[in-house]
Amino acid sequence: MKEKLEQLKTLLARVADLENAAAVLDWDQETYMPEGGVQARADQLSTLQGLAHEYFVDEEVGTLLHDLAAHLDELDYDSDEASLIRVSLRDYEKQVKVPGDLVREISRTSALGTQAWREAREKDDFSLFQPYLEKMVELKIRWAECFKPYDNIYDPLLDDFEPGMTYEQISAVFAELKPPLVELVRAISQKRDAVDDSVLKAHFDKDAQMAFGRAVAEQLGYDLTRGRIDISAHPFTTNFWRGDVRITTRLDENDVVSGLMGTIHEAGHAIYEQNTSPTLYRTGLDRGASMAVHESQSRFYENVIGRSRPFWRHFYPRLQEAFPHFKSLDFEAFYRALNKSEPSLIRVEADEVTYGLHIILRFELENDLFNGRVSVADLPEVWNARMEEYLGLVPPTDREGVLQDIHWSQGLMGYFPDYLLGSVFSVQLWEQMQKEMPGVVEQIEAGQFEDILAWLREKIHRHGRKFTLPEITARVTGGPLRWEPYMDYLRTKYGEIYGL
Ligand SMILES: [Zn+2]
Repeated sequence: MKEKLEQLKTLLARVADLENAAAVLDWDQETYMPEGGVQARADQLSTLQGLAHEYFVDEEVGTLLHDLAAHLDELDYDSDEASLIRVSLRDYEKQVKVPGDLVREISRTSALGTQAWREAREKDDFSLFQPYLEKMVELKIRWAECFKPYDNIYDPLLDDFEPGMTYEQISAVFAELKPPLVELVRAISQKRDAVDDSVLKAHFDKDAQMAFGRAVAEQLGYDLTRGRIDISAHPFTTNFWRGDVRITTRLDENDVVSGLMGTIHEAGHAIYEQNTSPTLYRTGLDRGASMAVHESQSRFYENVIGRSRPFWRHFYPRLQEAFPHFKSLDFEAFYRALNKSEPSLIRVEADEVTYGLHIILRFELENDLFNGRVSVADLPEVWNARMEEYLGLVPPTDREGVLQDIHWSQGLMGYFPDYLLGSVFSVQLWEQMQKEMPGVVEQIEAGQFEDILAWLREKIHRHGRKFTLPEITARVTGGPLRWEPYMDYLRTKYGEIYGL
């Protein structure tokens, strides 16, 4: 068994090296590559990713995994070895079921569809994107059908981003969350003048913004000797191994807060990946457990901590020092402006309260789409009707409606719910952390974040991909994912801000 395990690790290390090399090229493309690099970069990435896939679904890997899986009960479930076999076998059995030509066709349709989506969004013309989206939905249906039997055709799509979670489980959480969320959004809307966020707007030097963001990220625990921060159009985090985890951010000359919160969000992702166990190096397990667990970390740092009073009691004097605009703005006015909640059309700009409804809308719509209850042609109309129902707004254009997100053009159906699951889990973690660390609020007020990081590292980070979200939730909180703490958190925080 020991010998076979070593063989498996050698084969998986090749796959990890190829994937991480592709990630470096991808990072370069998003940051410093000149425009002329696009064509060659697409070829290089497709060759590397194709090789990684080929090496992974190799028969030798499959044989080794099946042989080793027969001895799984001899190993401790939590051990690196058992986890490597269990998780790799799950990945293998999934990837090996999909014919190579379907993988390639999805990849090609994604490249073309993304281009069509950009044009359609720019011209605000859904019909330009419609044929590509129809093709992509058809391909993803074929892809999902590779995993029969299932209760819901949407399940294999969800499972790709959130292993172990099904439509039934996620909709059980969202169905409970939706009515109180709609109610809270309505109550806040009636008091929308109570908070003025125009006080945050002024001119802020970009170099000073970058310096401030770096200092905050570092203080939270992002190790810049094992990472770096650059500028990109869409902020993201990438990981080549735990010794090199990079983030990007986007800065706005007229708004220091939006760039800073984006930096904190990505730093949350990066802190997670910098703290996976070194023993998982080159196994493919040295990254975040799933999209929702990842978002639970980024949204924990960005929202639960980064938009809280204790956090700003420490950082506001420093912000005032760095940006004299704030010297005349009192703390409470700043705190309220930072947390202004208002229904808006664009998901990525939504506040903590309205955000969930943007996600539930997409989750329900994807489920309807894949179960044949809504056609691609009907999407703009259905989108607008549901926006009005959930957020009281009708997008005046498709650009601000159904065309706003890139995900569907790239075939990333099933991804959206993880943003909300992550938010829900982030608050459950906060609840647990407060129980186990009674002085945590005082630590935040003092600008001390080492114990918070140590707690997250111990409970979540070091395990990498060893466990699924349901497993992590049970291990950390002793029970399943619960929506109630999240709703209580929103009600308390925004009830106070808006005097509800
Ligand atoms: Zn994120």
